Amino acid sequence: MSRVWNFSAGPAALPLPVLERAQRELLDWNGSSASVMEQSHRGKRFIAMAQQVEANLRELMSIPDDYVVLFEQGGATQHFAQIPMNLAREGDSADYILTGHWSEKAASEAAPYVRVNVAASSKADSYLHMPPRETWKLDPSASYVHIASNETIHGVEFHQIPDVGNVPLVADMSSDILSGPIDVRRFGLIYAGAQKNIGPSGLVLMIIRRDLLERPTRPMAKIFRYAEQAANDSMLNTPNTWGWYLAGLTFEWLRDNGGLTAMAECNRQKAELLYATIDGSGGFYHNPIDPPVRSRMNVPFTLQDSRLDAAFLQESEAAGLMALKGHKALGGMRASLYNAVPPEAVQALVDFMRDFARRHS
Ligand code: PMP
Repeated sequence: MSRVWNFSAGPAALPLPVLERAQRELLDWNGSSASVMEQSHRGKRFIAMAQQVEANLRELMSIPDDYVVLFEQGGATQHFAQIPMNLAREGDSADYILTGHWSEKAASEAAPYVRVNVAASSKADSYLHMPPRETWKLDPSASYVHIASNETIHGVEFHQIPDVGNVPLVADMSSDILSGPIDVRRFGLIYAGAQKNIGPSGLVLMIIRRDLLERPTRPMAKIFRYAEQAANDSMLNTPNTWGWYLAGLTFEWLRDNGGLTAMAECNRQKAELLYATIDGSGGFYHNPIDPPVRSRMNVPFTLQDSRLDAAFLQESEAAGLMALKGHKALGGMRASLYNAVPPEAVQALVDFMRDFARRHS
């Protein structure tokens, strides 16, 4: 069976060995003669797996012991709202850095629960640059500082973790988690929807410094409270068992392929090849982002002549290159180069792009 090269922004490509293993294990998981989806999350087998998945993630990301790991639901969007519920009291403020669609959405969804202070924004510049750190108007009494480490639609990424002093840094890493090593200690809270670099949608990974769980909050139902989730091993109610299992397979795949350092190098090479092709196309293709903050994961680009867009999409699909259509907010094209997109896929993409440009110039 031949598979397409998948450049989807999310839900996105999963590593082929992960899919193959899930397929092999589907009908008889772990000697149970049933699939993992058909078993109680309270059963011995599932609990043992969940613990192992967490241990593997801790090792991959070198997560210190004073951080808890949660496997939540609701998508990253739900946590845009739940984070201020858990980290701020009524009337408190939080600093938001706006660098694209998702950090903007995080701020607007937080607004009912915390006074949002936009400490920096590159919106006026259509999010083509990052607001320089020295221009941020941070409030030392803020409950937290929120960033989106990678903007999936606008294609900008923090390549250095900003220093925000003693205020906890909260990062939406939905689209660049596990793409390379990071120093977890620099963050108060990391969260990521699973459907890019982790597994299927419907699962949200959270890494939270334990002391933040003790903050006084407004009254709320237990189900929304991270401290309760932590006390119940993310099983206050029925978790996304299938997503948890697949995340575990992805973590093992990462470990078996050199871990996050190897992933970072591979991701760097893939992105460099694509950006070099765009920049070297004599203007046929264009990526408008300030080069030092270009995303390694999501590469938006336009064709000089947008009348060729339809042909580009049709021909690329015929060539086995899937999901290159850009987000509707920006138009044009977008190639997402997550961990599971192999270098051969990017090579096939740039070969196609060069050929297309030659034929249509
Ligand atoms: N944050 C980022 C950076 C995203 O790319 C997305 C969407 N894929 C979201 C948040 C929202 O995620 P979800 O659809 O899981 O709520």
